[in-house]
Amino acid sequence: MLNYRAELDKMPYYDGVEKNYRIKVNANESTLNLPPRVKERVINRLASLEFNRYPNEEYHSLVKQIAENFSVDAAQILLGGGSSEIIEKVFQAFGGAGHKIIFPQPSFSMYKIYAKAADAQGVPFDLDERFNLNVDEFIKTIHETGASLAVVCNPNNPTGNVLTPAQVEKISASIDCAFLLDEAYVEFYGQSAVNLVAKYPNLIVARTFSKAYGMAGARVGYMIAQPEVTRMINKTFMPYHMNKLTLAAADIVYQMRDEFVPRLQMIISERQRMKEQLKKISGVEVFPSETNFLLIRLSRAEDLKNYLESLDIGVRYFSPGAFGLKNCLRISMGTPDENDEVLTAIKNFLEGGQ
Ligand code: PMP
Repeated sequence: MLNYRAELDKMPYYDGVEKNYRIKVNANESTLNLPPRVKERVINRLASLEFNRYPNEEYHSLVKQIAENFSVDAAQILLGGGSSEIIEKVFQAFGGAGHKIIFPQPSFSMYKIYAKAADAQGVPFDLDERFNLNVDEFIKTIHETGASLAVVCNPNNPTGNVLTPAQVEKISASIDCAFLLDEAYVEFYGQSAVNLVAKYPNLIVARTFSKAYGMAGARVGYMIAQPEVTRMINKTFMPYHMNKLTLAAADIVYQMRDEFVPRLQMIISERQRMKEQLKKISGVEVFPSETNFLLIRLSRAEDLKNYLESLDIGVRYFSPGAFGLKNCLRISMGTPDENDEVLTAIKNFLEGGQ
């Protein structure tokens, strides 16, 4: 028998294998590929890359752009293979035997897995029945548990709701441990906490190119914190962990980020439209969302998921054991046409007695 690391067999597994649905609204990706003008420039840039050289220049070029945009020092930024890698490394840096990492539930399901992978004890903190975080209780629990890292996803996945900047600041100011704020969906909300990093040495903000910038396939994310924090977290990364193709593509995308504004507006207005339409359907509860997706609850969620699947429409269904998410489905925003089709299918299912 092979002698694996202790506990590896009990490690939960994130099943990333997905069907390529005709209408794919299950993974909170951007439904649109890169804008054509951006794609063309990315391809030109890739054509002139020195594949034989390690990716120093491209790494620093993207860091410099991000630093300039947020008016922070380049030493305050680290890049990762998606914000997934950033989050995993932050957990590694503050984890280890005897350390506790606290995060709300329901939230991004990977936090539990990263805590375990970091040999830390994951401490879930329950959101209330409307998925709101009781900030004072959360702070109290952080003190009581002596956690080394607190994590909050804002806006929250999979529920869509938010903390206000004042609430984020209150948490930052009231705890001594590290505070990772996962802003994967913040472009659809508009209220980032990056400006608080200068004031709070415990605050680490993680961002991604996967959602608003349609780069999920390229795997690029970043974090912003004070230089001493990035210096320590940087020790957990391999040398040259970002590949040159991703970096060069992201560099162009970031330069041309204004090109993404119309589609961000489209997603936000579609979210509003879909929310209003779904609310009109009897038996469907729609939760508030500041993201590119909506969470709904209805009594026959699993049957609806199966019906949508039969039409080659993929939505996210949560296993019956997922905390607080019984009978919930998460639907990412597609184009107006895709959303119309999803809406008609849901109406047919519920009102047509499928
Ligand atoms: N954080 C949250 C809250 C997410 O929903 C996701 C993706 N589903 C990620 C982080 C990771 O995304 P990526 O690695 O593509 O940046």
